[in-house]
Parts: sequence; structure tokens; C-alpha cells
Amino acid sequence: MEGKPVCSHCSGQAVYLDRESGTHLCSRHLKESVESRVLSRLMQEEPLPEIIGVAFSGGKDSTALLAALVVLKEKIPSRLIALTVDEGIGGYREETIRHAKDVCSRLNVEHRIITFPDLFGLSLDDFMKSSSRKACTICGILRRRALEVLAQQEGVRLLATGHNQDDHAQTTLMNAFSADIKKVFAGSGRTSQFARRIKPFASVSEREVTLYAILSDLFMDLPECPYAGDALRGEVRRLLNRFEQEHPGSMRNLAHAEEEIRSRLKNKVKLQPLENCKVCGWPGSGEICQVCTVLKEQKEYKNNSSTGQD
Ligand code: SF4
Ligand code: ZN
Repeated sequence: MEGKPVCSHCSGQAVYLDRESGTHLCSRHLKESVESRVLSRLMQEEPLPEIIGVAFSGGKDSTALLAALVVLKEKIPSRLIALTVDEGIGGYREETIRHAKDVCSRLNVEHRIITFPDLFGLSLDDFMKSSSRKACTICGILRRRALEVLAQQEGVRLLATGHNQDDHAQTTLMNAFSADIKKVFAGSGRTSQFARRIKPFASVSEREVTLYAILSDLFMDLPECPYAGDALRGEVRRLLNRFEQEHPGSMRNLAHAEEEIRSRLKNKVKLQPLENCKVCGWPGSGEICQVCTVLKEQKEYKNNSSTGQD
């Protein structure tokens, strides 16, 4: 009978197999491999700013990212600060916020929380009572702004998000399906004049990220958002997972191909300059920003419902 697989770098018991290269890794070498990829991403941003903000939802990706950055503390001169947005989603956010607070206190990282009611006067649950838009659309628009406000308040110039390689590959395929070239090029780095965004897990697979959180003893099985259910992303995710199973390395190649195209065309594609919103003054694309559009629609919907119109 075959014994348990052993790490390709030491005699430790393997916990992970990179199916593309056939490399087995023990917990120490898996963690080191993830950390070295995170570090090399960060080094592309040199000189690093005084503060690095981490968009910290409390989910497994941002928890693993925060843990990796804490391990790398001695190699990174910046101070870390975790930034959490509480959208106000009953039966889901309370538990994830509790977990987020617990992780920050265990890792000894400063933590700031901003809520939708603080900023927009309503929770996401309230918005959903008076809106015809999908929850994830409203949530995405408002959460992005909330994070930017928090980053600005805290003097954060570099904002790290927990997006992993699988997310990256899924987004690439979804953008290709929608043929929305602007989305491809308007991705990281352009959305705010305050904080540049980076994705330190861009070359780390979801499986590795999950294992990293588990091996750091910070994984928690949290409830799923009741509004979750982006049908297209779910389908693309299933499709890519099946493809990866049959052709290991596909996800990595797709994510790399997109980065390569983006970097080669970076200076050749002219993006529209940001304009200041006529209502709130925040930089965005178009005369009225998406946040002000959502807030205006919500008020109109409410007024129409109270006067009995459609
Ligand atoms: Fe927001 Fe949608 Fe994510 Fe829920 S699933 S937190 S509504 S983006
Ligand atoms: Zn605005």
C-alpha cells in the first residue's frame, strides 16, 4: 500500500498537490510559497507607502491575506490597517463582523469599520426594500465607495484586496463573454484617486488561499450572504473548475494571459479621464456618479411607491 505523499522539498507530510507541476507541499512549504508570491506582488509596488490598507470582509480570502501580510511584517516597512465595510445584511454580516474583529485582535492589526447607514443613511437590507436593482449591483457600487471613504479617512494610499487567481480567471472570462473592453482595462489601479488597489493573491489559487487560512488557524465556516447568487459568475466558476480539473494550469494561464495583455496594451488604450460627480463631487466616470444614481433611484422608487405609482 502506498504511504501518504511527502513534501517535494522536505520529509514533511504533504497537505497540497500542485496538479500542474506535480509538486507536493507540506504545510510549512505551502505557507512559504504563498507568502513569497504575496511578497513579490508587493515588491512591484516599491517604494511601499507608510500604510497598507487591507480590504477586510472577514471572509476566508481577506483573512488569509491579512495573516500572510502579518507574517511578512518584517520584510514590509508599512503599517497594516484592516478596513471593513458593514453593509447591513441581517443574519449574515453580524457573524462575519464578529469574526473580522476577532481575527484583527488575534493578529494585533488595527481595524476600522464603516457602515452603509453611517455613510448612505440606509442598510443594504433597507435599500432592497425600495429598489428594483439587484442586491449585488447596489452592494458593489456602495461598498467600493465606502472603502474609498475609509481609505481616505485613514490616509491609505495602497489598498490590498483578497481577490485570488480563480476570481481573476473568472472575471477575465466574464469580461470576454460580455466583450466589454472598458471593464478589462478599467480594472485595478484606476478606480480611485486616493488609493491604488493591488491584489497580492493574484497568482495564488483559491485552494491555496483556503488552506492558508486553515493552516493559520483562522478559518471559520461563515454563513453565506442571503443575496449571493450571481448566476453568471456561478456558471463561469463551475465551468473553469471543471476545466481546471481536466487540464491543470488552465486557470493560472488564463489569469496570466489577461495580465500580459493588460500590461502590453496599458499605454495604448486611452481611458476616459475621471470627472467629478456634479452631485457629490467624488471622482468617477460620467456627470453623475454611480453612487448618486443609486441614491436618486432609491428616493424616486420610494416616492413613487408612496404615491401609488409604478
Ligand atoms: Fe454584497 Fe452580493 Fe456579496 Fe452579498 S453576495 S455581500 S449582496 S456583493
Ligand atoms: Zn456622486
